Amino acid sequence: MKVLVTGGAGYIGSHVVRHLLESGHEVVVYDNLSTGHAWAVGDAELIEADLADQERLRSVLQAGKFDGVLHFAAHIVVPESVSHPVKYYANNTRNTLNLLECCQEAGVRYFVFSSTAAVYGIPDTASVAEDAPLQPINPYGASKMMSERMLMDLGAASDLRYVSLRYFNVAGADPEGRQGQATPDATHLIKVACQAATGQRGGITVFGTDYDTADGTCERDYIHVEDLASAHVRALDYLEQGGESQVLNCGYGCAYSVLQVLEAVKRVSGVDFEVHYGERREGDPPALMADAGRIRKVLGWQPKYDNLDQIVADALAWERHCLSRGLL
Ligand code: UDP
Repeated sequence: MKVLVTGGAGYIGSHVVRHLLESGHEVVVYDNLSTGHAWAVGDAELIEADLADQERLRSVLQAGKFDGVLHFAAHIVVPESVSHPVKYYANNTRNTLNLLECCQEAGVRYFVFSSTAAVYGIPDTASVAEDAPLQPINPYGASKMMSERMLMDLGAASDLRYVSLRYFNVAGADPEGRQGQATPDATHLIKVACQAATGQRGGITVFGTDYDTADGTCERDYIHVEDLASAHVRALDYLEQGGESQVLNCGYGCAYSVLQVLEAVKRVSGVDFEVHYGERREGDPPALMADAGRIRKVLGWQPKYDNLDQIVADALAWERHCLSRGLL
């Protein structure tokens, strides 16, 4: 298939681009390089442009005759979404509308959307299934929920079929070191902890120790970026084979607390970096864990890296690789 990948120069997008190329698809990346890197797209064609530039987007989609679009480009930092909601609704919701409009005009048939577990807010159950109520507690989750809704309505009104993948906490890197999380000023837990372990930061602060969880810190379901990437290729194949539109959780169904993650990073790195204990961070739900049955059933997806130490080892190797090559 010929596919357009928005945000394909970013962390998750670039891993998916590599998997798509390896599967024989023709890939064009559309990315403004605000947080991504040209080196991350490998042999794919890169169009450096913004999703807000709808004329450019329209002409790329009209000219390209794409079978499918995978839409990664978005802002993803929960606390920033709380302080800058307009930035999130503009890029994540309005620009998704721009894109969907152009896809409709160009007759794109398949769409794979990067959604998030943040659409659930604070779930009522320990593990959350796709049919749970959507009650986001931060603008990031709300901006993605609205995009999911637009996609659902467009799917109902046209021939477009889609898979919305609700990511839980994505971490790790290509085990062969070709790609990894290279966003400047990244805020995500495993990345920050690996930077502390490699001496790029003085230490790390745990945001809140008084949550109603086993050890008082937030619990998350961490998924290796390689497993997430393979889920995207499967989602695209599924659509091509005639599969109905789907909303699928992407997680392992296993949650770790912030303290457990920090222990793992210390164990795997052998570095006893400093840990500070701070206030809660705005917008954080106490616990998020996937009910991960549906994606296995619908896509036949089988994770290969379902192991926190492996995720951490690959994230650490990436940090060291970047340091030695001056990539960051
Ligand atoms: N976290 C932390 N210190 C950090 C970064 C994150 O304690 O330096 C916590 C954060 O408060 C949340 C969990 O780690 O409870 C996961 O946060 P992250 O930003 O990695 O992902 P999110 O769940 O917000 O998408």
